[in-house]
Amino acid sequence: MPASSLLCVTIGRGRHRALIAEHKHLAEQGCKLVELRLDFLMTPPNLKRLLAARPCPVVVTCRREKDGGRWTKSEESRLMLLRQAIAAGVEYVDLEEDIAASIPRFGDTKRIISYHNFRETPEDLSALHARLSGLNADIVKIATMAHGPHDNVRLLRLMRTARIPTIAICMGEFGQPSRILAGKFGAPFTYATFHAERSMAPGQLSYQQMREVYHYEDINTDTDVYGVIADPVAHSLSPVIHNAAFNELRLNKIYVPLRVPREELSQFMHDARELGIKGLSVTIPHKEEICQKHLDKCDDSTHEIGACNTVLLKENRTYGYNTDYAAAMASLDHMFGGDEGASGLRGKTVLLLGAGGVARAIGVGLKRRDTDIIIASRTMERTEELARILKAKAIAWGQRHGVKPHLIVNCTPIGMHPNVDESPIEARYLQSGIVVFDTVYNPEQTLLIKQARDCECTYITGIDMFVSQASIQFKHFTGQEAPVDLMRRVVKQAISPVKVQ
Ligand code: NAP
Repeated sequence: MPASSLLCVTIGRGRHRALIAEHKHLAEQGCKLVELRLDFLMTPPNLKRLLAARPCPVVVTCRREKDGGRWTKSEESRLMLLRQAIAAGVEYVDLEEDIAASIPRFGDTKRIISYHNFRETPEDLSALHARLSGLNADIVKIATMAHGPHDNVRLLRLMRTARIPTIAICMGEFGQPSRILAGKFGAPFTYATFHAERSMAPGQLSYQQMREVYHYEDINTDTDVYGVIADPVAHSLSPVIHNAAFNELRLNKIYVPLRVPREELSQFMHDARELGIKGLSVTIPHKEEICQKHLDKCDDSTHEIGACNTVLLKENRTYGYNTDYAAAMASLDHMFGGDEGASGLRGKTVLLLGAGGVARAIGVGLKRRDTDIIIASRTMERTEELARILKAKAIAWGQRHGVKPHLIVNCTPIGMHPNVDESPIEARYLQSGIVVFDTVYNPEQTLLIKQARDCECTYITGIDMFVSQASIQFKHFTGQEAPVDLMRRVVKQAISPVKVQ
C-alpha cells in the first residue's frame, strides 16, 4: 500500500507549562509529530525543559513577525536558539530561506527550509523551489496565500513533481484542499492546529477536523478525490456526511470543500482531473452553468430541470445528475404511493412555495406526476416564469392562504437558522390530511414542521431530503449503498447547537 502522510500539530503558547501539557495531550491522542512554536513563549525559551522526555518527535520553529510569527527579540538570539535545538538533537528544525546558510547541518536533525508569502502565490514556483532545495534541505516547505482554486493545483503539482520531499500549502479558505490533499500529492506531513479556534495560519484546520472528518493519515497517492463546489462553501455539511460514509465502508476516498467563484468554474473543471477528482457535489452558484456548459451527458430529469447537483468524471467524460430531485420525489412517492408512471399524486393540488432552483427541481417531478401546481413566491416575475415552465398557476405571495392544497412544499429559506421563529404558512391554515414538506434542514424541526405536527399533518423534513439526496449521490460516487443511518446521525450532530470541535 502506498505510504501515507503524517499530521504535524502546531502548538504555540505563552507559557512553557501549557506548551508541555499540550504536547503530552497530543501524543496521548496518537499525534506523531508536533511543531513547537518558540516565538509564542512570553519568557526566554528553555529548550531543556521543552525537549527533555518529549512525548513525540518535534519540529522546532521560531518565527519572526515578518514571516507571520511573534518573535520580536534579536535575530542573533533566534539563530542561537535554533542552533541549540539542533545540538539538542530535535527531529526537525524550520529554517527560513535567508538564514538556512548560516545554520549548519548537525547530527540527525532534518532541515525544513521554509518560505512564507501572506500576499500571494508567486508566479515562478519552480525557481523558488529550486532555490530552497539548494540550501541543504531535507524538506522544502512553501506556504503562500491562495486567491483562487487554481493556486491549489499549482502547489499540489509542485509537491507531486518535486525531487525532494516538499510540503506546499495554500493559505486562506481557497487553499484548504491543498492542506487536505497534501498526502495524496506526496507531502511527508502537513500542518494542523491544536484547536479550531486557535488557527496559526489562515485556513489551517484543527487536528480533530483533519483526523475525525478527513481521516488525513489514511490518504495516500491512490486515494480518489470527491468534493463540493460552491461559493461560499464553508457552511456545507457535505464533507462531514460523505467522509463519514467513506470511512464507514473503509473506502480509499476523500471528500473536500472546494470554494470556486462563478468566474473560475471553467478553469476548475479543466483542473479537476489533475486534482484526482472523480465526483462532485454542486451547489450555489454553479448548478445551472455546470448543466449548460460542462456535461457530456445527463439524464432526462436533470436536462428538464436545467440544473445539476452531482457530477461524475469518468474516462474523460462528465455525467450529470440531480439528486435533489430524485430524493424529493422518492419521499413523495413513498408518502402518496406509486411512482412517476402511476402516481398517487395524480390530480392532487400542490402549493409550491418559492420559485428558485429547488422549487424548479421538485416542480418538474410534480409536473411529471400530473399534479395541479400553484406557485407562490416573493418576486412575481420569477414566480410567473417558473409557472410557465411547469404549466402551473402563479399567485401573489399574499394569496397563498386562499389555496386548498393536498400538499404544501416549502422551497423558500423561511424558517432557516437563525430565523427559526418564522414559518411560510400560518398555523390556522393547516389541517390534518394535508401533507407538509419543508426543504429547510437547519433546524430539522422548523416552525412549519412543528405546526404540521400539532395539526396532525403528515410531513417530510429537510433532513429527510438532505440525507436521501446525499445517499443517492454516494451511490453514484461509489456504486455502493450508502450507510443512511450513519449519515443522518452525522448531519443531525453537525447542525445541533452544541458542537464539539
Ligand atoms: P433560491 O434559488 O434562492 O430560491 C429561493 C426562493 O425562495 C426564491 O424564489 C425566493 O424568492 C424565495 N424566497 C426567499 N425568501 C422569501 C420570502 N421571505 N418570502 C417569499 N419567498 C421567498 O434557493 P434554492 O436553491 O431553491 O433553495 C431553497 C431552499 O431549499 C433553501 O433555503 C434550503 O433551505 C432548501 N434546500 C434544501 C435541500 C435539502 O437537501 N433539504 C437542498 C437544497 C436546498 P426571490 O425570487 O424573490 O429571491
